[in-house]
Amino acid sequence: MAKKTLLLIEDEKAIRDMLRFSFSHHEFELIDAEDIASAMKVLSVQIPDLIILDWMLPDMSGIEFLKKIRKMENIKHIPVIMLTAKAEEENKIMGLVSGADDYITKPFSPHELAVRIRTVLRRGLIKSPDDKLMLDTICVDTNTKTVSIKDELLHLTANEYKLLYFFMTHADKVYTRDQLLDHVLGKSAMVSDRTIDVLIKRLRAKLKPHDCHRHIKTVRNTGYLFARQYENSSSC
Ligand code: CA
Repeated sequence: MAKKTLLLIEDEKAIRDMLRFSFSHHEFELIDAEDIASAMKVLSVQIPDLIILDWMLPDMSGIEFLKKIRKMENIKHIPVIMLTAKAEEENKIMGLVSGADDYITKPFSPHELAVRIRTVLRRGLIKSPDDKLMLDTICVDTNTKTVSIKDELLHLTANEYKLLYFFMTHADKVYTRDQLLDHVLGKSAMVSDRTIDVLIKRLRAKLKPHDCHRHIKTVRNTGYLFARQYENSSSC
């Protein structure tokens, strides 16, 4: 199996050296960058499988860069693990790094980070080179903006497609109705409180014949979550 490429963006040389040394024995290929400018140079020629991103960097904060990454078409799906130096205020950190796939607080051991990396990579979307996203049997073709399950085309409206696409690229995280509205329909959309509920209901109904509706979970008093896996997961 080909080694997974990791891009480490971290200004502390000691951490870069430690991880480069530790990961040389692993199934990972580590590229490191000391700041965002060097990372951008790497990203212009190579797309890593995962990015390890430090919070405090000299030229831009990791959080700011994370937001940028999520808007960049060619790299927005790359999983990101944030390195944070702050152990306190866990809730606040979680809110800030909500665009990240995981975060780890310094000091950490290379072993601990390797475990997190494997978990994130394992649950990641399978992306084929022809711009298709696969999750279980759901296949989203981002070129034609169509969705199929086991080669059967789903007839989705534009908004249902946008919602499913958002869910698949942001799985396993809870989003409020407002957040989903912003992401899926945009802030300017003329909508009522029920818009997202109605959209979810329709999408679930279209996924149900394939038993894939169970990926969409209602989180009481909060919103919705698209689970990569669900309990009693048969082949979906
Ligand atoms: Ca730093």
